[in-house]
Amino acid sequence: VSTETITAEQIAAGARAHELDRAHVFHSWQAQGPFDPMAIVKTEGSWVWDGAGNKLLDFSSQLVNTNIGHQHPKVVAAIQEQAAQICTIAPQYVNDARSEAARLIAELTPGDLNRIFFTNGGADANEHAIRMARLHTGKNKVLAAYRSYHGGTHLAVNVTGDPRRVASDNATDGVVHFFPAYPYRSYFHSTTEAEETERALRHLEDTIILEGPSSIGALVLESIPGSAGIYVPPAGYMEGVRELTTKYGIVFIADEVMAGFGRAGKWFSVNHWNVTPDLLTFAKGVNSGYVPLGGVAISDAIFETFRDRVYPGGLTYSGHPLASAAAVATINAMKEEGMVENAARIGEDIIGPALAEIKAKHPSVGDVRGTGCFWAVELVANCETREPLAPYGGSSPAMAAVTGALKKAGMLPFVNFNRIHVVPPLNISDEDLRAGLAMLDEALSVADAFVEA
Ligand code: PLP
Repeated sequence: VSTETITAEQIAAGARAHELDRAHVFHSWQAQGPFDPMAIVKTEGSWVWDGAGNKLLDFSSQLVNTNIGHQHPKVVAAIQEQAAQICTIAPQYVNDARSEAARLIAELTPGDLNRIFFTNGGADANEHAIRMARLHTGKNKVLAAYRSYHGGTHLAVNVTGDPRRVASDNATDGVVHFFPAYPYRSYFHSTTEAEETERALRHLEDTIILEGPSSIGALVLESIPGSAGIYVPPAGYMEGVRELTTKYGIVFIADEVMAGFGRAGKWFSVNHWNVTPDLLTFAKGVNSGYVPLGGVAISDAIFETFRDRVYPGGLTYSGHPLASAAAVATINAMKEEGMVENAARIGEDIIGPALAEIKAKHPSVGDVRGTGCFWAVELVANCETREPLAPYGGSSPAMAAVTGALKKAGMLPFVNFNRIHVVPPLNISDEDLRAGLAMLDEALSVADAFVEA
C-alpha cells in the first residue's frame, strides 16, 4: 500500500469530513449506526487515496460508472468551461451542450434510436422508459427478470429482481418477474448454453402467454446484468427476446445503465448481438458520473406517439448543461483515446486469460465470466454443489475476509454477495490491470481456506 502524494492537510480534511459525515450524512442502502464509511481525499485515473493516505487501485470504477477513470483532464476542463458560460438552464430552452450530447448519443445508439430524453440518473431513465412504453402501447403490465437491478425509485425498484426490491416492495406496480438465462445456475436444468437459450426463451414465451400479451406493455432487461452478477446472456437469447417482444407487441427496453458506454467492450452491450431495442436506458458511463446524468434513447415509432400527444413527464434538470457538457467531453475523449477498443482488447487479452488461470488455481472460484471491462468472479463453498460462499442477498465471514485481504493489498474492490467484480476503468493501464489481477489472485487464497474439503 503506497501513500505517495498525499499531504497532511488532505489527511486532516478527510478526518474532519468523516466526523461530519457520521454526524449528519444519511447513507444509501445502510443501517446507519454500524456503517463506517471510508473517506476518499484524492482521485486520479485508476487510483483513489483513502483518509489515511493509502493509495488504492479502483477496481470498482466506483459504482461501475467511472469508465474513463477519475479526473480526466478533458472532462474536468469541459465542465469548468461550461460552468463559466451557463451553469444551468431549464429544459424547455435550447442549450448547445444538451443538443450536442443528444446528437452524439443518438449517433452511437443502434438502429433508429434517434431521440434522447435526459434524466438525472438510471432509475428515472427506467421510470420514464416504462411510462413511454405504457402510453405507446396502452398496456400497463411490465415484465422484468429476477437477478436484476433497475434503480432505487418506486417503479424502478419494483422492476428490480434482487433483494433491494424485496426490502422496499409495497406494491408490485404491475410488474411480473421471469427467470433469466443464467447458465451457471440454470433455472431450466440446462447442461449447454444452447439448451439454456432455448429453454429460457420458452419460459419467457410461456410467461407472456400466461400473463396475457394484451396486458403487457413493456419488457425491461439489462443487456448484460450488472450488479446481479455480470452473467452474459448465452448466444441467441437477446435475439430471441427481441423476436418475442416484437411478436407480442411489447416494448423492449434494454437497460444499459451499467452495461453501456463501452463497459462491455462495445459502445452498447446490445451491439454484441446486433439487437435494437425500442427504448434504451443509460446513465453512469455516459459522462462517467462526473455530473449526474441518465436518459432514454427513443425509437422513431415511439417518438411518433408523442409527436402530437403531450408526453406527461419531465425533470427540472433534464439535460442539465454541466452534465451534458461532461457527456460531450466524455464521449469525445473515449473516441479520441480508443477507450472502447481498449476495453475489448484488455478483456480478451488480459482479464479473460488471467481469470481463467485464477479459476483453475483456486477451489473457491466457481465461475468467471464477462467481456470487456465487465467481469464477475463467483465464489463458492463447494465447486460441485456450487453452494455460494455467501447466501443470496447477504455476506459471510469468508467474503468479509477476502474483501479485507483485497483492501489490505491496495485495492478498492466491487463485492456483492458471493461475487467479486472486475470492473476497472476502460483506460486502465495494462500494468495497473495486471497488478490488480495479481492482488485478486493472492487474496483468493483467503477464500480457499473456507472451501469444504
Ligand atoms: N440500472 C442498472 C442496470 C444499474 O446498474 C443501476 C445502478 O446501479 C440503475 C439502473 C440505477 O441507476 P441510478 O443509481 O443512477 O439511479
